[in-house]
Formats: sequence, structure tokens, C-alpha cells
Amino acid sequence: MRLHRLVNRIPIPALKTINTYVMKCGSSTVLFDPGMTSEGASNISSFLRQNNFPKHLIVILTHFHVDHVAATPHLNPDEVYMHEADRSHILRMVDEWPLVLDIMKNVFTKGGMPESEVDLLDKKHPAMSRIDVFRSLRELEPKPLPERFTVGDCSLEVIHTPGHTPGSMAVHIGDQHYIVGDTVLIDITPNIALIDWSTNPLYDYLKSLRKLSALDPVKLYPGHRGIIDEPKKRIKELMIHHNHRLGEVLSILDKAGKPLTAYEVASKMTWDIAFKEWSEFPIAQKYFALGEALSHLKYLAAKGKVSLEETNGIYKFSIT
Ligand SMILES: [Zn+2]
Ligand SMILES: [Zn+2]
Repeated sequence: MRLHRLVNRIPIPALKTINTYVMKCGSSTVLFDPGMTSEGASNISSFLRQNNFPKHLIVILTHFHVDHVAATPHLNPDEVYMHEADRSHILRMVDEWPLVLDIMKNVFTKGGMPESEVDLLDKKHPAMSRIDVFRSLRELEPKPLPERFTVGDCSLEVIHTPGHTPGSMAVHIGDQHYIVGDTVLIDITPNIALIDWSTNPLYDYLKSLRKLSALDPVKLYPGHRGIIDEPKKRIKELMIHHNHRLGEVLSILDKAGKPLTAYEVASKMTWDIAFKEWSEFPIAQKYFALGEALSHLKYLAAKGKVSLEETNGIYKFSIT
């Protein structure tokens, strides 16, 4: 079994490219994450043709994000698989639209975001503005990926690693090598955003990192940038990063000396982007930042380290 990595450009400046992985498995081709654009899909198709890959195409999606899934219909796959948690998220988005959007609007409003910014979610949020992508994906009738999946001479094992999305997964392809989607990236910290107050994605994510590390991985194949040759070291760095972040949120609340909204907390956190002032942040970055602040606040609230009071439909957080 040999894994090939194909790299295609995507129109997201912070990420630049997406990795697609492909392998020959008997009379089928197994392909992970087709990517975002039709140009990328046609590069992939040419590669498969030139290298005599089997025509029967099985696509596995590491998670539901548009940069990984949007190009799927362009490849005309015979079968599409994803984790049940992300599969049902997509079905819910499409079949019960705009329910998921309303849940997100509700938590962002409670988080203290101004109404004028919340109202633009379905136009400016990278996922919420691409309901068309999820509609065409749904038409391909994605199936839940079984925990053990054998195709020809390939035997794959699925490890559920929720956090970045509810159905993010790592797929063991043999010899402690894992395809990990966006759960571990080599030089970017994956976005862990809360979009529904009833969830605790940062708790899930840290647990997923521990689970992955305990498997003693030798190589990780991420959705963006380079392959990770020292998985445990990188996983450790990500855990430390979030611990620092949690400390930062606590110290922001401490210094404020009064209860703050999640939006106010987000505006005081340090962000690794080119804009110095919160007011200059592009709106999509504000959505990511607020989602990230909320995921850290929810984690701390569940641990009993911060408390929240709701007044006039807005949460205010303080140190307990
Ligand atoms: Zn992602
Ligand atoms: Zn991604």
C-alpha cells in the first residue's frame, strides 16, 4: 500500500493549500478529502488517470469543512464516507436549514456579538455561507464510515477525534500512520470553535489529542501543510497552547475586575493575524475568534473556574 499526497491551492489565505491523500486498494481507489475547488478536482482526476488508478472511487472525508469536501461532486465518486457525527450535522444543516444557523446566531448573540455582525453569518461565515456545498454533498448520500473498513488489500481503522468538528476522525492506514484531517497541523493551531452552547468542543479536542498520542503514532498526514514526523511532540505543543489560552482567558477576566461577554474576551485575546486592532478584524476572523473564545469559556465554566450570568439574553463571565 502506498499513500500519495496531492497538494492543491485553495482560496483561503491563512491555509493556502489542501492535502488530498490517495491509495490503490485492490480494484478500488481510496481518496481522502478532495479539497475545495473544481481546478483541484481536475488535477486529482488527471493524476489518477495518468497513474492508472482503478476507476471505482471511494472518497473518505476526514471532516465536513468546505475546504475538504466542496470538490467531492466534481470527482463523481462511487461511494462517499464520513464520520456519523459530521454526516448527521450535514443532514441537519440541509434538511433543517436554517436551524443550525439559528443555533449559532443564538450563541453568538448570547456571546455579546453586535446584531449587525450576527446578521451577516449566513453571508460571511465560511461554512454557513456555503449551504450549496452541503446540499450537493448530501445528494451523494454519504455513508457513515465503519470503525474497521477493508477495501481490497487496505484495511483502515477509524479513530473518532472530535473537537475541530464533532465528527473529525483519524484514519489508521497501517504501521502507526494516520490521516488526521485538521485535528493536528504542523505549524497552525486548528480552530476549536463553539457554535452551540450545549457542546464542549475544547474538552472533546483535548481528549482526542490524548487519545491520539496514546496510540504512539509514527507519522501524521494532516489536511494542510507538511507531514508530521514527530507526532507526540506536535500533539504536546497543541496541548500546551490551549493551556496557555485558558490561562490567558482567566487573566483577562481577572484584570477586567467585572464580568465580560465572550465577545469582549475575544477582543482582548492575542490573535496571530496581521490586524492589530479588534475593530480592523475581517468579520470572518471575528466569527472564528468568538467561537474560539466561547470554546475556552465553556471549558472553564464546565470545570467550575468561571461562572456566567445571563442578563437580557447576554452571557457575562467572571472568575469564580
Ligand atoms: Zn477543518
Ligand atoms: Zn481544513
